[in-house]
Amino acid sequence: MDKAKVLETIAAIGKRISREKDYLTALDQPIGDSDHGINLDRGFRAVAEKLPSMENKDVGGILKDVGMTLVSTVGGASGPLYGSAFLKAGAAVAGKEAIDIEDFLLLMEAAVAAVKARGKARVEEATMLDAMVPSLTAMKEAAGQGKSAGAILDQGVEAAFKGAEHTKDLIASKGRASYVGERGLGHKDPGAASYAIMLETVRDMAVI
Ligand code: ADP
Ligand code: MG
Repeated sequence: MDKAKVLETIAAIGKRISREKDYLTALDQPIGDSDHGINLDRGFRAVAEKLPSMENKDVGGILKDVGMTLVSTVGGASGPLYGSAFLKAGAAVAGKEAIDIEDFLLLMEAAVAAVKARGKARVEEATMLDAMVPSLTAMKEAAGQGKSAGAILDQGVEAAFKGAEHTKDLIASKGRASYVGERGLGHKDPGAASYAIMLETVRDMAVI
C-alpha cells in the first residue's frame, strides 16, 4: 500500500465512521454518554479536511498528523486513545513511502501498546483493547503461518468483531462504562465496535 492508498484508506475510514455514527453513538447510550460516534465523526471530518496537506508526507508523517488531529478534535476518552494509537503507529513506520503487511503488523503493535499505555487498561475490561488485542494476535498468527496479506487481514477483522461482541459478557472497569458496573452486561463496548469497523475498512481498501 503506497502513501496515496494510505490517504484514500483514511478518507474511507472517515466515511465509514460517518455512516456508523448513529450506531456507535447508540452503543454508547446504555453504558456511557451517547457521544462515541459523534466524537469520532467530528475527528475524522477534521482529518478529511487536512488530508490534502498530508500528500507530501511519508506514511509515518501521515499517521502522525491523523493522530494529532484526532487528539485535538475528538474529545472524550477515545480522542487521546485513538490519537496516540495513530501517533505511535506513525512513529513505527517513520520515513516509509509505502507499507506492506509486515509494516502494518508493526504499526498495529505500536498502536495497541499506545492504547494500553495511555488508558492503563488490559484485555477483559470491556474497552477497545478487547477488539484490538485479539485481532493483532490473530493477524500475527496468520502471518506466522505464511498466509497472504488478504487472509491475514480477514482473520484480524473476524477476531476484532468477535472481540467486540465478547465485550457484552464483560463488566467494564475502565472509562465511563465502569460507572454502570453490572448493568453494562449485555451491551457492546462502542470503542471495540469502532475499532472493528476501522480495521474492516482497512481490509476492504487493501484487497481492492
Ligand atoms: P467518553 O467515554 O469520554 O465519552 P467516547 O465515548 O468517545 O469517550 O469513547 C468511549 C470508549 O473509549 C469506550 O467504549 C472504550 O472502548 C474506550 N475507553 C475508555 N476508557 C478506556 C481505557 N482506559 N482504555 C482503553 N479504552 C478505553
Ligand atoms: Mg462517550
